[in-house]
Amino acid sequence: MYRGRIAPTPTGLLHLGHARTFALAAQRAQQANGTLIYRTEDLDDARCRPVFAEAAIEDLQWLGLQWQEGPDIGGPHAPYVQSQRLTWFREVWLKLRQSGHIYPCEKSRKDVARALTAPHAEEDAEPIFPPALRPAPGTGSDAMAPGNNNWRFRVPDGEVIRFDDAIQGPQSFQAGQDFGDFLVWRKDGFPSYELAVVADDHEMKITEVVRGADLLISTARQLLLYRALGWSPPAWAHVALVLDQTGQRLSKRAEGLSIRDLRAKGKTPMEIIQGSV
Ligand code: GLU
Repeated sequence: MYRGRIAPTPTGLLHLGHARTFALAAQRAQQANGTLIYRTEDLDDARCRPVFAEAAIEDLQWLGLQWQEGPDIGGPHAPYVQSQRLTWFREVWLKLRQSGHIYPCEKSRKDVARALTAPHAEEDAEPIFPPALRPAPGTGSDAMAPGNNNWRFRVPDGEVIRFDDAIQGPQSFQAGQDFGDFLVWRKDGFPSYELAVVADDHEMKITEVVRGADLLISTARQLLLYRALGWSPPAWAHVALVLDQTGQRLSKRAEGLSIRDLRAKGKTPMEIIQGSV
C-alpha cells in the first residue's frame, strides 16, 4: 500500500518550487491509490513560525492538494508536527547509541546550527568532518540520553552508497568523500533533520519519499541511518528544482513567487503547478 508524504518546514511562505514538488507527491500517491501524509517539520525553533505552518496548509489546500493524515485532520500516526515528537526521536537516538553508530562531539558550532533543517543549498551543507577528530571505534559513550552533547553518525569511509531514484535514475555517493560524519543530535535537545526525517518516515510507514533533487545527497546519509537502525528504506523520487531567471534555486524569500503572491496576481492552481507562470 503506497504511503507518500509532504513535509514542509514553516520558515517562510511556500513558493512555486514547493507547489510543484508537493503537487507531484500528491499525484504519485493518488495514482497509486495510496495515502498522502502531511507532516510539519518545525524543529528549527528559532526560524519556524506557527503563522507559516498555517499558511502552508492553507496554500496547499488552495492548490487542491488533499492529504489523508496530517496536523489539521489527525490520523493513526499523530502528532504530525515534529516539535511534538521528541520522545520518539530520543528513542531512535538511543537505538543508534546502543548499536555504537554515533558518538558525542563538541566540534564545529556552525555545523550544529545548520543541522536542524534540510540542507537544500551548498551553504547549508555540513563540511566533511575530519576523521582525525573522531573517537576510536568501540570507545563509544554509554549515555542513556543525549544530554548536553552534539552527536555524530560515524560513516563507513570509502563505502559507495547507491540507490535508484524514480526520476533521477541511479545514484551513488561515497561516504567520507561526498559527505562525512554528520550530526544526528544537537546539545540543545533537538535531533538533526537527517535523524528526524528517517525516524518519522519509518514510523509513518512511508513507502516513497518525493522531494527536491537538492536532497539527493541527504538520501545517502539517510540510507546509512536506515541500515544502522535495521529498517527498510522507502523508494525515492527526487524532483528537479525550479530555478529563477538567473538560474538560482528559489528560496523561501523568492520575490513574487510565493504561492500567495501568484494567487494574488490571479494565477490559478493549474498554472502554478503546471508551470505556465
Ligand atoms: N522539511 C524538509 C524541507 O522542507 C523536508 C525535506 C524532505 O522531504 O525530506 O525541506
